[in-house]
Amino acid sequence: MDFASTEEHQAIAEAVGRVCSKYDDDYWAARDEDGVYPEAFVKDMTDGGWLGIAMPEELGGSGLGVTEAAIMMQTVAEAGAYQAASSIHLNLFGPMPLAVFGSKEQRETYLPRLIKGEDRMCFGVTEPNSGLDTSSLETKAEKSGNGYVISGRKIWTTMAQSANKILIIARTTPKDQCEKPTQGLSLFYTDMDREFVDAQVIPKMGRKSVECNTVFIDGLKVPAEHLVGEEGRGFKYLLHGLNPERILFGIEAIGIGKSALKRAAQYANERVVFGRPIGQNQGVQHPLARSWVELEAAELMAMKASWLYDNKLPCGAEANATKLLGSEAGYHACERSILAHGGMGYAREYHVERLFREVMISRIAPVSTEMILNFIGQTVLGLPKSY
Ligand SMILES: Cc1cc2nc3c(=O)[nH]c(=O)nc-3n(C[C@H](O)[C@H](O)[C@H](O)COP(=O)(O)OP(=O)(O)OC[C@H]3O[C@@H](n4cnc5c(N)ncnc54)[C@H](O)[C@@H]3O)c2cc1C
Repeated sequence: MDFASTEEHQAIAEAVGRVCSKYDDDYWAARDEDGVYPEAFVKDMTDGGWLGIAMPEELGGSGLGVTEAAIMMQTVAEAGAYQAASSIHLNLFGPMPLAVFGSKEQRETYLPRLIKGEDRMCFGVTEPNSGLDTSSLETKAEKSGNGYVISGRKIWTTMAQSANKILIIARTTPKDQCEKPTQGLSLFYTDMDREFVDAQVIPKMGRKSVECNTVFIDGLKVPAEHLVGEEGRGFKYLLHGLNPERILFGIEAIGIGKSALKRAAQYANERVVFGRPIGQNQGVQHPLARSWVELEAAELMAMKASWLYDNKLPCGAEANATKLLGSEAGYHACERSILAHGGMGYAREYHVERLFREVMISRIAPVSTEMILNFIGQTVLGLPKSY
């Protein structure tokens, strides 16, 4: 076993850190107030070639693995929390089903545009009536001439306001005509034609500058060549991108937790009450030390899951464990950081309340703790399916 980080990994963290250092706490606090998309930050990351870190080299990407993407995204989240991470996250592994299952023409046409920031995509999976039960989604894609017509509703679709492309999953064969409920779903990478698509922003708890939307789709015409892979196999294609996405969500929460912990340690050293720094009290010190332990352990799991993925080994359990451990470690670090700051933890000035509001996303999306435990219980421990 080798736990040393390579020169390349350090170089990635330093280079990404240099870009992020141009966008300080005040920049992210302002975006949290005004809700304006962090265009300058995204442009800087795009110009630096970072959006294509995991995309194939022949299409303009760097051809690196999820390990390198995780190092990059931990650095990004530590600097700008989920407002920074989510503004670019989708570009890293969102197009993975397209990169792996798309036709040569789809790959060569669309991936370079995403890497260069010429196209912006959103991801339409979650629906109001099906939630985590993806196989029960109601959006339909019906055959029409040499293509399809899509109608239905999606919810929580991140960046549906600014995206000109959507990777969308829709039912092409009724569930009762399929052998398995996950069959008969198809994946399309198509245009957000605003004549047929209406996105309405959902007011939410945090990450204000990266919007989420309810999306109403009414008769969206989709040419046959926008179908990804084969009709009816969309769920399988979707799964392909899920493990890296879970690893990234977990590592981003770890980055936010590390940022909160650093701030707590600094404050606990400086703040003097009862004639001594508050950090001298074990009641303040131990929760912070525990957070360090939790964050390090979650990071180790993230590195194991990334290594497995990059070496083409099964990593479902470890990717899910990364998401669970990372989100809880990050959340606890933010909560403890607020408590260590006392009243000032509740004040916007110290930024930890913003981190707390943002890290909460990792507890919910892209999959909940309960569904992760369902998965581990069933597939790792061999227990009966519970849902
Ligand atoms: C900020 C944010 C951004 C998002 N971005 C996107 C996006 O870009 N695209 C997209 O498609 N989606 C997106 N989502 C949606 C997200 O993936 C879902 O919210 C998440 O998958 C949970 O689905 P749900 O909200 O419908 O919860 P539900 O399915 O309604 O579940 C609610 C609760 O019940 C629990 N539960 C349900 N069934 C069971 C069971 N059988 N056993 C145990 N517990 C159960 C769940 O664990 C959860 O805690 C986003 C969400 C947020 C908050």
